[in-house]
Amino acid sequence: MITVLRYGHRAVRDKRTTTHVGLVARTFGADRFIVVGSDSVPVNTVNNVTERWGGDFKAEKVKDWRSFLKNFKGIRIHLTMYGKPLSEVIEKLQTYKKEDVLIFIGAEKVPADVYETCEFNVAVGNQPHSEIAALAIFLDRFTGGKWEKKKFKDAKLVIKPQERGKKMESF
Ligand code: SAM
Repeated sequence: MITVLRYGHRAVRDKRTTTHVGLVARTFGADRFIVVGSDSVPVNTVNNVTERWGGDFKAEKVKDWRSFLKNFKGIRIHLTMYGKPLSEVIEKLQTYKKEDVLIFIGAEKVPADVYETCEFNVAVGNQPHSEIAALAIFLDRFTGGKWEKKKFKDAKLVIKPQERGKKMESF
């Protein structure tokens, strides 16, 4: 099971970004999305998408993120531009594919103890960019592209891909 934890969500400023982190997590192979804090908006938006577009993905809030992180039974991976390059650690990380994996991503500055608690600090390039981009690339590499074959069961909306135009079935 892959869980993505979004640390540092700021209710007014980050609504859209945090929602996009959740949607990226859902599409690219994660199973669960945790938003730190009390803002229900991104959690409800992501769960509404799952309700319409299918699958078992769950979004939820957590207040005490530190205890969640400390007590997580599995491998904790912190995505940060200060970490080891993804290409150097991806083979090792893939040996944990069958275990519970927590992917920790920030918004603004991440407290120093996160770097100590997580088993891995991983950089998607050692340049500052975006948590959305970092998560998408990480999940693509970690799942070996298998997210593309993922089935979203009980979907009420299913796109019928075609060369031009928009075709969708509703159930
Ligand atoms: N200077 C900040 C820091 O402390 O890492 C960057 C904040 S950035 C706007 C928000 C989040 O995006 C970071 O906490 C990290 O999870 C992710 N991120 C940004 N650049 C990254 C990179 N090159 N590799 C991995 N994650 C990155």
